Amino acid sequence: MPYLGLGVYKMTNPEETIRAISKALEFGYRAIDTAALYYNEEEVGEAIRASGLSREDLFITTKVWNADQGYDNTLRAFETSLRKLGLEYVDLYLTHWPVEEKFVDTYRAIERLYEEKLIRVPGVSNHHVHHLEKVFSKANVKPMVNQVELHPYLTQESLRTFCKENDIAVTAWSPLGRGGILQDDAIKNIADEVGKTAAQVILRWHYQHDIISIPKSVTPSRIEENAQVFDFELSSDQMHRLDQLNKDQRFGQSPDSFKFDF
Ligand code: NAD
Repeated sequence: MPYLGLGVYKMTNPEETIRAISKALEFGYRAIDTAALYYNEEEVGEAIRASGLSREDLFITTKVWNADQGYDNTLRAFETSLRKLGLEYVDLYLTHWPVEEKFVDTYRAIERLYEEKLIRVPGVSNHHVHHLEKVFSKANVKPMVNQVELHPYLTQESLRTFCKENDIAVTAWSPLGRGGILQDDAIKNIADEVGKTAAQVILRWHYQHDIISIPKSVTPSRIEENAQVFDFELSSDQMHRLDQLNKDQRFGQSPDSFKFDF
């Protein structure tokens, strides 16, 4: 799975979405992170086909939305996503949020899709340790990815340790804190020290911690900037200073207080 992908949440304008994904693929991105909830799976498929890239060179993630969880519903939701994407398989399929009473059955359906080779990697999103433990109790194949909010203000250390011990790759959503941490003085100082931008420093911090990231932008120059993070290194002192910024601050919702009101 590539360490960097383009997140496409809130890309609602079809032309803009296709343009942004096409640019990302031109700049060398090979992973796209969408979800049924984002209502742009059709555009993701269109941009992929227009790119002329081979299917096996791409890594496409989508997710089952909360209202569609449970075993049978998940299988149906997956069929819809596959049809909208116009693909024969999905690389990574995730439970979007752990809907109480349902997320274990949702994951069992994802496991079946994996056994049927309709997905290459089974995974989950927004799962705390206690959710993962419940999933493990019923799963034959453990989730291979957990996608959670993660950035220097929310470093998720204990969850990362647990995932590492269980061979679960961690993907950071909102890796830039929705843009809300780019003005942080400590991050800007490090950016000056290495001659890079704040966004590049943050994405490099993720990479050096073995965390996959999926920053979102529709602006071509930013899409390009976010991909240029593999040609420099942060020192252990700089990594440590970034680690120290943690304040358990979320920009999105928490898995334990998310309102599943549908
Ligand atoms: P993000 O941290 O990627 O921040 C995106 C914002 O930062 C953009 O709106 C843009 O304005 C700004 N930005 C991006 N690159 C920049 C740059 N180089 N310089 C200055 N500003 C820049 O936040 P996000 O969009 O919330 O998260 C990324 C992706 O994660 C989403 O698109 C989606 O695919 C995924 N996601 C998943 C979940 C989930 O529940 N699994 C939840 C939220 C997001």
